[in-house]
Amino acid sequence: MDVNINKIKSLLGNKFRENEPLASHTTFRIGGPARYFVLTQSSDSLQEVLSWAQKNKITYIIMGGGSNVLVSDNGFDGLIIKIQGGHLSIKGDKIECEAGVMLAKALGESLAGGFSGLEWASGIPGTIGGAIRGNAGAYGSDMSKNIVQVKVFRNGKVKTLSAKDCQFGYRESIFKQADNKDVILSAIIGLSKADAEEARDKAKKIIKERAPKFVGFSAGCVFKNIEVTAEDAKLFKEKYPDFPDQYVEYRKIPVAWLIDRCGLKGKVIGGAKVSDNHAGIIINSGNATAENVIMLISIIKQQVRDTYGIQLSEEIEYVGF
Ligand SMILES: Cc1cc2nc3c(=O)[nH]c(=O)nc-3n(C[C@H](O)[C@H](O)[C@H](O)COP(=O)(O)OP(=O)(O)OC[C@H]3O[C@@H](n4cnc5c(N)ncnc54)[C@H](O)[C@@H]3O)c2cc1C
Repeated sequence: MDVNINKIKSLLGNKFRENEPLASHTTFRIGGPARYFVLTQSSDSLQEVLSWAQKNKITYIIMGGGSNVLVSDNGFDGLIIKIQGGHLSIKGDKIECEAGVMLAKALGESLAGGFSGLEWASGIPGTIGGAIRGNAGAYGSDMSKNIVQVKVFRNGKVKTLSAKDCQFGYRESIFKQADNKDVILSAIIGLSKADAEEARDKAKKIIKERAPKFVGFSAGCVFKNIEVTAEDAKLFKEKYPDFPDQYVEYRKIPVAWLIDRCGLKGKVIGGAKVSDNHAGIIINSGNATAENVIMLISIIKQQVRDTYGIQLSEEIEYVGF
């Protein structure tokens, strides 16, 4: 991919880089270099870069906090547009923020303003844009419950979407559909007035509970949990009596439970390891390659399929494969 990069280079200075190692931009700490790399810190500069890339027919991939991706060891032979930071303001009982704002910052500002509604996101890394795309969630909630409005860059124009337009589902949204090329620019997040101390305590409690599970470099849970009907949850329990009652109630089969039951907790391939603390997480114990992670993922999928007849699907997204 050879393009005239001089114009964008002079416009962006050191925010434009060539052969940028991507490992340092992911929480997995894995990944080869990006041929071109741009750091954008506002919706305006993001739109400028997108217009330039589209006009010059440059293949690009968006990256937020890099906390839900596995980047190939060969990197990406195109442009990585990293969205980091941006404007945030509280208006009434809503937060307006640009896509590169960290979820943790939005939560912190909401708590400081005496609002409740984002506590479930305590301890989740990444940006608002990444969280909207994947409908990030925890503790029985997710982004879809907070989103009022999303602004996207679509076909060279800014378009405003309602929460309904986003077609949220379990770790799903319209933005994950194969033919969708929207780039999330900003969002309005709905909150409610709260007992400030109670909301802060809830957030602290969640962070404390999560800390022992998420140890080491990872991309969080690798696979999506399995959603089942009430009937199927009961049948699963009949077949596997040690399946905990609480999961029957949630109508979800946690992938970590399946992986653990396959005896894969602690399984190592090169530098990649199924976490001893949470079998749904693969950690990079220092020198893991993307190939190590891919091999481990394929062993997990095969064993869960052979043992339970369940086909796992990844929550993490692949870049450069
Ligand atoms: C320790 C740890 C714990 C985690 N816990 C949870 C959890 O409890 N619940 C949960 O749901 N997730 C969890 N995750 C996964 C991850 O943090 C979330 O999915 C997060 O929302 C990803 O945001 P990001 O900015 O890092 O996205 P990235 O990883 O940078 O990108 C993810 C995808 O979104 C796309 N994308 C990013 N920004 C935009 C944008 N502005 N417009 C369009 N597309 C975009 C990227 O192209 C990519 O396909 C965890 C991860 C880690 C490392």
